[in-house]
Amino acid sequence: MLILGLQKTTLLDYPGKVASTIFTGGCNFRCPYCHNRDLVMPPADVFAYSQDEIFEHLNNKKKILDGVCITGGEPTLHKDLPEFIAKIKDLGLLVKLDSNGTNPQMIEYLISNNLIDYVAMDIKNSKEKYNDIACMSKFDIKPIEESVEILKGSTIDYEFRTTIMKECHTADDMISIGEWLSDAKSYYLQSYKESEQVINPIFNPHSIETLEHFIELLKPYIPNASLRGVD
Ligand code: SF4
Repeated sequence: MLILGLQKTTLLDYPGKVASTIFTGGCNFRCPYCHNRDLVMPPADVFAYSQDEIFEHLNNKKKILDGVCITGGEPTLHKDLPEFIAKIKDLGLLVKLDSNGTNPQMIEYLISNNLIDYVAMDIKNSKEKYNDIACMSKFDIKPIEESVEILKGSTIDYEFRTTIMKECHTADDMISIGEWLSDAKSYYLQSYKESEQVINPIFNPHSIETLEHFIELLKPYIPNASLRGVD
């Protein structure tokens, strides 16, 4: 595991829970709107946490924490993720995994071994536009489709979520995504926000009215579709 960040306490990252968030380094996508540039492309002299430091913190705080959120970067790139999570579960903590869905085998393994309690999976865009938005050429979307089916067929809590940008997401994309994710447990649209850490700050948010319209388009397919973090 390459652990590049630790937020000791958060009420925002794990829905309804008090959590610590662990940030892993490295990602197999290069989404230009990503606001975790230093996690995706860490500088050579980056500071990394040892597992001892992480578990010292979790041991000290386990009485006030409900769980741990593991995010990135892309955590499923790390082959020792199951062993790392097993040590967190041994402390009696819940585990939420944030993932771009490119490693369905890992997601399936973690679910079937009761190692995760919640998954938040990014849906970058409609299937037709996936390569454009993740900045991948000839990326095969099949693993993403597999991860969607694994989560929809599982009994654990999960959410799909999409960061929405004016230049990338249209009403037709929402209908295409709605058909794809049909009857998902929960789906959130999050409006793009610029920050200093964005890989390539060339995007703009849609208006609130457009985002609300997108939700109306999604609801016939995903009744639980809603906006998140929109001011
Ligand atoms: S948004 Fe997620 S998947 Fe895309 S580059 Fe950033 S960490 Fe990777």
